[in-house]
Amino acid sequence: SPTPTAIPAATNDAQFARARGVLPGGVDSPVRAYGSVGGTPRFLVSARGPYVTDVEGREYVDLVCSWGPAILGHAHPAVVAAVQEAAARGLSFGAPSPTETDLAEEIRRRVPAAERVRLVSTGTEATMTAVRLARGATGRELVVKFAGCYHGHVDALLAQAGSGVATLALPGSAGVTVSSAAETIVLPYNDLAAVEQVFAERGEHVAALITEAAPANMGVVPPLPGFNAALARIARAHGALLIQDEVLTGFRVGASGWWGLEGQVEGWVPDLFTFGKVVGGGMPVAALAGRVELMERLAPLGPVYQAGTLSGNPVATAAGLATLRAADASVYARLDTVAARLGDEVSAALSAQGVAHVVQRAGNLFSVMFGPDAAGGVRDYAGAQAQDVFRHAPFFHAMLEQGVSLPPSVFEAWFVSAAHDDVALDRVVSALPAAAKAAAAA
Ligand code: PMP
Repeated sequence: SPTPTAIPAATNDAQFARARGVLPGGVDSPVRAYGSVGGTPRFLVSARGPYVTDVEGREYVDLVCSWGPAILGHAHPAVVAAVQEAAARGLSFGAPSPTETDLAEEIRRRVPAAERVRLVSTGTEATMTAVRLARGATGRELVVKFAGCYHGHVDALLAQAGSGVATLALPGSAGVTVSSAAETIVLPYNDLAAVEQVFAERGEHVAALITEAAPANMGVVPPLPGFNAALARIARAHGALLIQDEVLTGFRVGASGWWGLEGQVEGWVPDLFTFGKVVGGGMPVAALAGRVELMERLAPLGPVYQAGTLSGNPVATAAGLATLRAADASVYARLDTVAARLGDEVSAALSAQGVAHVVQRAGNLFSVMFGPDAAGGVRDYAGAQAQDVFRHAPFFHAMLEQGVSLPPSVFEAWFVSAAHDDVALDRVVSALPAAAKAAAAA
């Protein structure tokens, strides 16, 4: 006879209780646990277009979009068909397959400096490999990163990381050795003088400078004009590599990612890119890419080892390829329109309630930061942390009550999709006044 746990429980509370009995915190990734907003996470059972549905049968307009991948909306027919077709031909080969080459070519078509591409399964693997490759190529050990930038849970990159590390108010992570932390230099974001100084003092030991192309893991904090170009220049002058982490921005903020909005216009390229999220269309695909002579230092051609049983998985790459092929100019135009309208509406609703805030934007990524200190604009992690964090939880829950699912942390971007039609947007907009009121009362 079936065990009681095999019977699907009908409420989120029951699911959460059951999950906590077997998964630490009831989740497989920390920020899903509602740690900073409190309450019971919604256990989702399906998703379509701009909506997700929980185990209780409630539907929400989704502004998490799987934390980025779902730019076409959930369960886009072309992507689902591609996955079903691929799955029917076999789930994993452990041998090269043509779809991997197709996807890599599509990436290079959009970002020509991605001369060679290594497909992996998570953004974490991509940045971890990028750092190893930079160290292998330069023979140096130090890595420079910015406070508030999240690059996945790589030991060397967890210091003052944003995202869930910020949400849980952790300085870094237990289990990261002193020696690995000592090889990481953390600087304030948007502070070129700090970068210049570190490179002047220790530049000859720096293997890589890694940065989010436009940070969105401390909330959205766009680079000041010319900041990224200066990073490329400084790194090059000292023989270090610039790793531009586009796991979040890549193929979301535009057809060629953040680089397309900035580097392509200004005429510079980073040494290495990392991609994830959209590149897998909701399946586990991420990538590391860059110029030939660097990338060919990876095994099997070179001495920098990296491998993966499921790397370039045929079903996952089919999802990514179908997603990128469907993400045409009209999709990016729609993402921009949706983000512009939502950002404006949120701001208007908060202003109407007298809630000091700023809506920070980077392309179609945006986030709300609360408080008079933030209202003048936030340019680094210290500024993001100085906001009125306490206003987020009541705002979040008021939206959730009214059927809108926001990121359950103030240190995360809001994600839109091209499937967010006017019906879905109107639902969000009509929920805003009550949420703004709740934020004001906090
Ligand atoms: N880099 C950035 C900029 C990210 O936003 C993320 C994930 N949010 C990662 C790396 C890590 O990717 P993953 O969660 O797939 O390991």
